[in-house]
Amino acid sequence: MRTAPNVIITGTPGVGKTVHCEQLAQDLGLKHLSINQVAKERDCYETYDDERKSWVVDEDKLLDAIEDEVLQGGYLIDWHACDLFPKSWIDLVVVLRCPSTSVLYDRLSSRGYHETKLQENLDAEIFGILLEEAREAFEEEIVVELNSEKDDDVDSNCARITTWVDTWKKTQAEQNAD
Ligand code: ADP
Repeated sequence: MRTAPNVIITGTPGVGKTVHCEQLAQDLGLKHLSINQVAKERDCYETYDDERKSWVVDEDKLLDAIEDEVLQGGYLIDWHACDLFPKSWIDLVVVLRCPSTSVLYDRLSSRGYHETKLQENLDAEIFGILLEEAREAFEEEIVVELNSEKDDDVDSNCARITTWVDTWKKTQAEQNAD
């Protein structure tokens, strides 16, 4: 039984997953698990996608690599996909959104994304692909959509997630005491 929840922070690249996870890790003491970093460090890649100039992750290898840690609880799982994680591992799924295409465009182009990758990500955000993926993979009541356009959004989103995590811990402690 986990005493701290596992929270997925997902969304299109550039929506603010890293900034949210860093702030939440500091505020809540949860561990930031950047899947990009884990895949790189633990060699969980399958192939290189030349068109998108990015590595394709071997999902089975990735899940094997993180399972023992994640099952302990208390992780912020930071990735642009969420439907590969088993339902039983996850307590909350936060889908960050950036409704302003020009804001997202600027964030991604300043990263040096080339045109195909940039357009693909903007389209994914416009069509809400990640939100749909989250709603299909997890129970509706654990999926939360939050806007991440302005600086203030980061603070208010983190405050909401903090309240949710505190409530989860209290409920869990009460259930364990019964
Ligand atoms: P992701 O991890 O989802 O790819 P990042 O957290 O790296 O996104 O954010 C991309 C860029 O956008 C960073 O420069 C970050 O500071 C900025 N950013 C993200 N969310 C916000 C926000 N709500 N307000 C202002 N800037 C933001």
